[in-house]
Amino acid sequence: MKNIAVVGAGFSGAVIARELGKAGYRVSVFDARPHIAGNCHTERDAETGVMVHAYGPHIFHTSNEKVWNYIRQFDEFMPFVNRVKAISKGRVFSLPINLLTINQFFGKTFNPKEAEAFLASIGDQSIAAPQTFEEQALKFVGKDLYEAFFRGYTTKQWGMHPSELPASILKRLPVRFNYDDNYYASTFQGMPKNGYTYIVERILDHPNVTVQLNTRFERAMAPGYAHVFYSGPIDAWFNYSEGRLGYRTLDFVTERHTGDYQGNAVINYCDEEVPWTRISEHKHFSPWESHEKTLIFKEYSRYCEERDTPYYPIRLAKEKSQLKSYIELAKGEKNMTFVGRLGTYRYLDMHVTIAEALDAAERFLELDPAGGVMPAFAVDPLG
Ligand SMILES: Cc1cc2nc3c(=O)[nH]c(=O)nc-3n(C[C@H](O)[C@H](O)[C@H](O)COP(=O)(O)OP(=O)(O)OC[C@H]3O[C@@H](n4cnc5c(N)ncnc54)[C@H](O)[C@@H]3O)c2cc1C
Repeated sequence: MKNIAVVGAGFSGAVIARELGKAGYRVSVFDARPHIAGNCHTERDAETGVMVHAYGPHIFHTSNEKVWNYIRQFDEFMPFVNRVKAISKGRVFSLPINLLTINQFFGKTFNPKEAEAFLASIGDQSIAAPQTFEEQALKFVGKDLYEAFFRGYTTKQWGMHPSELPASILKRLPVRFNYDDNYYASTFQGMPKNGYTYIVERILDHPNVTVQLNTRFERAMAPGYAHVFYSGPIDAWFNYSEGRLGYRTLDFVTERHTGDYQGNAVINYCDEEVPWTRISEHKHFSPWESHEKTLIFKEYSRYCEERDTPYYPIRLAKEKSQLKSYIELAKGEKNMTFVGRLGTYRYLDMHVTIAEALDAAERFLELDPAGGVMPAFAVDPLG
């Protein structure tokens, strides 16, 4: 039986560990934290009884049927649709911008065609090829909607004015010309009845898989294993030799109240004067449960310093160039594959994380028995 090390007990690590364990490898999973499930960790708050998403709200959504069937082996998924609200200049609106938002914002009763024509008329058509996020937004939604919903929120979220961010951040026109206020356009969406940590616990529950928490995996430990799957930060593995990759981190300020605090799971605060970006009320992520008390997270975004938890990779020109250097270093490592959101320095939704972990495991299980060499990356981190 070959020994395999998996660094990180988030979705990336857990899925790879299970698939390799099932195939007869002896898998040791390490996590530096005192709990499994990585950033998807959920736990019940002792005071309110509410299931809390400890590192911020996580809504499971996917159009990948393989992933949807895979995840549902480990818990029952309860119906949940993310319907986000936004507060801008003292008024409440529906997000993403949809027909209701447009009609309420402008005091109109447009039908879809009229709304589309109206937006085209207020968009700044003098901008032929938008270079920045600001230009992109001004071209597609015009000054009023841009200032109400994007300027302040984006500045707070990224710590930069939208005129300093590339247009590529706002890839698609974030506007719907109907009344669909489902935040995600995925085929499947839901919440695990018992939380994400329960799911990861069940994924890791295999006789060939052992888990060591509170254990940071160091370079010196690698020679004991036939292969290492590493879902930790790629720059940390190389001791930040090419500089630290930039991330945004989040601070959550918790408050407990009685009853219903805001009547919805997530409300975004778009004005720059309000220091938090959004408030999530966690009991609304489990609408099938009932709790007298409630718990909210006020979310603040800032640059990630050395001791902070990295959340969103910044991935601007400077970081991409550093990443290229780390990719070259990673390719020089023997018997090691970098996976997951930190190992490849990309923002990944859970369903993408799971799909990539399943693919990485499948690839290893094809290559290894045939004497092949598993590459440093199963996906292109720059792709
Ligand atoms: C604020 C926020 C909200 C999100 N909301 C959603 C959402 O609504 N829906 C969705 O689908 N996705 C969401 N995501 C994405 C989701 O969090 C990721 O898809 C998921 O966490 C990726 O899993 P992972 O295993 O790759 O990484 P992680 O969950 O970060 O796990 C990596 C683990 O590796 C451990 N580790 C690192 N280095 C070492 C080391 N040297 N030794 C031992 N252990 C180590 C860490 O402690 C960590 O536990 C959100 C992400 C953020 C930041």
